[in-house]
Amino acid sequence: MDTVYDVAVVGGGIAGYTAALTLVHFKREVLWIGTTPFGEKLRAAERVNNFPSFMGTGEEFAALLTRQAEREQVPFTKGRVDGIYAVGNEFLITCGKISYKARCVVLATGVDFRRMKGEDEFLGRGVSYCAVCDGALYKGKRIACVLASPEYEEETEYLAGFAREVLAFPLYRGANFRAPNIVIMDDEPVSVKGDSRATALACKREEYPVDGVFLLKDASLKALVGGLETEGGHVRVGLDMSTNLKGLYAAGDVTGKPYQYVKAAGEGSKAAYSVHDFLLRAKENP
Ligand SMILES: Cc1cc2nc3c(=O)[nH]c(=O)nc-3n(C[C@H](O)[C@H](O)[C@H](O)COP(=O)(O)OP(=O)(O)OC[C@H]3O[C@@H](n4cnc5c(N)ncnc54)[C@H](O)[C@@H]3O)c2cc1C
Repeated sequence: MDTVYDVAVVGGGIAGYTAALTLVHFKREVLWIGTTPFGEKLRAAERVNNFPSFMGTGEEFAALLTRQAEREQVPFTKGRVDGIYAVGNEFLITCGKISYKARCVVLATGVDFRRMKGEDEFLGRGVSYCAVCDGALYKGKRIACVLASPEYEEETEYLAGFAREVLAFPLYRGANFRAPNIVIMDDEPVSVKGDSRATALACKREEYPVDGVFLLKDASLKALVGGLETEGGHVRVGLDMSTNLKGLYAAGDVTGKPYQYVKAAGEGSKAAYSVHDFLLRAKENP
């Protein structure tokens, strides 16, 4: 926590990687943090045939990038960022109980295609992305957890330590929990319903009355960075990839279409140059 990085690059995809690689070449102190090195989407691609000089599967692409990251010494930190806060001239980046400090941030968190109706409307009013932050608010209550992947099973068990009953809706097969008050539901969540607060999770077959809904997946932009200007679900950026928040840049799918590796990598590089310039200017005019 005492280290103040020059820059925190948030997001493990190709936009984040290219930004981190370029900044390492500029000899900057870089924290490159994300859920999966090179991103889940890149690894999932059956065939990539539109990235200059590469033809092969997503996994082969990731293997080449792994070799390059090792050779160029671009270390990856595994973590899911749940908050980015501007504090004075620095940013505080939180991942559950761990936090980091950096002078600049490159936001490269990609896009989330799985947004649910009511998610934004009830955020902070019964909808949460963060078990550690909000779990204690649901002592003795009945809650629903929608899990994007098995990685979130531990957080669901943590919530079961507070809640009376947890209805778990895994969006994958083979979920497994150790807490007796977790019930695995076989229904597909569609929307969060309520009035002044969330009161139910509506699914394809049934509507389940609950006191809170935990959406255990990457946080929305709105929840991640307070005050960040967005447009149509994407971060609004200038030509230099700057956002409305001083020192915070964005790159890749998070800034809008086309959703392509080459565009994401290009923007990652551009954001890195802008960060480097910003830090040079900040040094000249402290
Ligand atoms: C199946 C599939 C095949 C595709 N094939 C092609 C293709 O052939 N050619 C092509 O050009 N494009 C293709 N695409 C599109 C391409 O994958 C995207 O344009 C590209 O991955 C965008 O890179 P990115 O770095 O902006 O975002 P992503 O690759 O989405 O990376 C963002 C990363 O940030 C992580 N993240 C999000 N929030 C947080 C947080 N709060 N804390 C930490 N980490 C976080 C995400 O989990 C993810 O790992 C394909 C997409 C899919 C889904």
